[in-house]
Amino acid sequence: MSVVESAPSLRADANVAAELHRLMSDLYPICRSITGNGVRETLHRIQQILPLSIREVPTGTRVFDWTVPREWNVRDAWVKTLDGQRVIDFLESNLHVVSYSIPVRRRAALSELKGHLHTLPEHPTWIPYKTSYYAETWGFCITADRLRTLTDPEYEVCIDSTLEDGHLTYGECYLPGESPEEVLLSCHICHPSLCNDNLSGISVAALLGRWLTSASRRRFSYRLLFVPGTIGSITWLATNQDKLSAIRHGLVLSGLGGPGGLVYKRSRQGVATVDRAAAHVLKHWSGDSDIREFVPYGYDERQYCSPGINLAVGCLSRTPYGEYPEYHTSADDLSFVTPERLEDSYRACQSILDVLEHDVTYESLNPMCEPQLGRRGLYNAMGGAAESRSREIVLLWVLNLSDGCHSLLDIAERSRQPFDSVRSAALALEQRGLLRRVHSGIADDIERLERTRGNS
Ligand SMILES: [Zn+2]
Repeated sequence: MSVVESAPSLRADANVAAELHRLMSDLYPICRSITGNGVRETLHRIQQILPLSIREVPTGTRVFDWTVPREWNVRDAWVKTLDGQRVIDFLESNLHVVSYSIPVRRRAALSELKGHLHTLPEHPTWIPYKTSYYAETWGFCITADRLRTLTDPEYEVCIDSTLEDGHLTYGECYLPGESPEEVLLSCHICHPSLCNDNLSGISVAALLGRWLTSASRRRFSYRLLFVPGTIGSITWLATNQDKLSAIRHGLVLSGLGGPGGLVYKRSRQGVATVDRAAAHVLKHWSGDSDIREFVPYGYDERQYCSPGINLAVGCLSRTPYGEYPEYHTSADDLSFVTPERLEDSYRACQSILDVLEHDVTYESLNPMCEPQLGRRGLYNAMGGAAESRSREIVLLWVLNLSDGCHSLLDIAERSRQPFDSVRSAALALEQRGLLRRVHSGIADDIERLERTRGNS
């Protein structure tokens, strides 16, 4: 069986919308941060879905210009009235505690306490999400409505946390394919009970991993990373520099269940194959979509696209971070992210990977004027007249541009036809002996990889 026909089929997972949302619901209550047991628990849950290795990197490890921080864990946190009533309660929402708060247990005057309270006055019923990874402090996040009810002169304050030497934990799943060249899929796993940012990316990545695992054969090898934002991708890159030359294409997945159409942010390279594949898929996608240029701000594509790394890694999301008011607030909850939009994003990822898997190059075996298609049955059995005509145009494009230099993606772009149609036409022409695949892709992949490694 050839590699081209062997990639996983696109619609085998019919219940995926409900599964994506269920996984998010399972992970929602867990208190995650950039380190700690919440990350481990999250990764253990994902291990039920795909063969994930859980890696531990000790506190103090130097990773490029950064250092793996101390590990943070929190068991409980509250503010109580002096007669023992919890007026702020971590057990009610883990967003109530500023992530990485140092332990505290004492009385505080209301005036002092207010200096440690964060609210969103413009959305008085929402709790903001705040972190303090690299400045030692403590704090609580509450609704502005709750703040107004705090009128006692003094309160009891407790954050039962630990910040001590431990590990940074991340998950990695490597799925070998026919080619040693890799596709990298990365998502961040460091946010507590927040759905669009970041549980939607985790869910889509996990189920894409399951889909890829189930494929009988893969052209590319796949590497899925579930890492804490920024420090996690930096740690992986710093400790896996020998693996970087194999990465040909990559996607950071985030914000995939919220409102709005799909948005693809190009890699730093801008015109990499993954950039073209994503732009092509989104252009033909039903519903709104947008292609954005690279900016050195955002999610972990910042690290993958730093100048010394410069991988072809873009970012797929729906409405990007910071462009919806629910971002980094308690309103980014399970109702903000719908199963339908999660599935739509998941299908778009599948389609992008499908283009990468099947983007091969053909050569016409009958390049001297057009071959006679009717004689070969290529004009018949093609449905109604309009459909027949559009199929014919695709066949002619594929025949015309299959000169050994244009890949199927090149042809799809130039002909403005969906990649699937172009690929179907190429397969039909190959079956009738009119096209020959110039190369399988694999031998060239290996040769290119060896050349890259020789140069580095
Ligand atoms: Zn975030």
